[in-house]
Amino acid sequence: MTRELTCIGCPMGCRISAEIQDGKIIKIEGNSCNVGKKYAEEELSCPKRMVTALVQVQGAREPLCVKTREPIEKRLIFDCLRELEKVSVVRPVHIGQIVLKNVCGTGVDVVATREYD
Ligand code: SF4
Repeated sequence: MTRELTCIGCPMGCRISAEIQDGKIIKIEGNSCNVGKKYAEEELSCPKRMVTALVQVQGAREPLCVKTREPIEKRLIFDCLRELEKVSVVRPVHIGQIVLKNVCGTGVDVVATREYD
């Protein structure tokens, strides 16, 4: 089986072709650097994504933009968003401040992406 991927490591967007046999990657082609190889290996075994979202701010109408500090497993994105729906932060909030620790037991924290007075 062959899987076609587009590397998201840089704007070049190399088209990567990965050959899989018996659940194992046996060949990776099309990547211009090792970042693409690593991306393909991870994407085919345990895909991960950064998650960005909005959370409520107590006493304010405008929500706060937040993101996971690191990518989390793609399969957990909707669980992560459901956890974030329950979050309501108190002002002031500082950029990088943790608004939710260890989201979905991933060990990854969700942090504010901007100041909010
Ligand atoms: S393989 Fe390397 S050069 Fe190609 S898109 Fe990925 S990071 Fe960029």
